[in-house]
Amino acid sequence: MPAGVRARTRPGLDVGIPRAGLFLDRDGVLVEEVGYLHKVADLRLRKGAADLVRAANRAGVPVALVSNQSGIDRGMYGWDAWEQVEAEIDARLERHGAWLDARVACAFHPEHTRAWGAEHEYWRKPGPGMPLHAARLIGADPRLSWMVGDMASDVVAAKGAGFTGAVHVLSLHGQRDEALSQLNRGFLVRPAETMAEAHQILAEHGVFG
Ligand SMILES: [Mg+2]
Repeated sequence: MPAGVRARTRPGLDVGIPRAGLFLDRDGVLVEEVGYLHKVADLRLRKGAADLVRAANRAGVPVALVSNQSGIDRGMYGWDAWEQVEAEIDARLERHGAWLDARVACAFHPEHTRAWGAEHEYWRKPGPGMPLHAARLIGADPRLSWMVGDMASDVVAAKGAGFTGAVHVLSLHGQRDEALSQLNRGFLVRPAETMAEAHQILAEHGVFG
């Protein structure tokens, strides 16, 4: 893993036989999109997001956050701010009886990362690096796994990682047509307006058993 990518796993995480995993984008999916979130004061869990994570927790489905954080290489904030926001996300989820099993974040951006190259492209979504790494961390079989994202790059990363499918949930980023254009044989893309609808779609596809 290169400098510029950080991964954290839940203490005591027990990785068993590879199984379905749930992968969530952070900004616009788990939390409200505010644009380069890096202050705890700006953090709001998206409505229905904690319920979705808790449902996965209760079903024994490991949950990983995979998040582009180009604000770091843009010089807008540092990893310390990222750590603080992540710690607060954990605290808020805990109040709902929910937890994340792992998180991976990537600071890279083609216009702001020095000597941009293939490795950076692999890690930054739409590259498959973060979902594949997170899958190893949480013991998820990519072929059984789902992504929930609000941008086409989330959908493309999930497809590149060999996931079953992706739920493209509407946020401030209106990229529905682009995301749905990724629909292909062997890869499902389901649109959703809300996190509650995303939850229902994943349930319909048997993600929670
Ligand atoms: Mg997003």
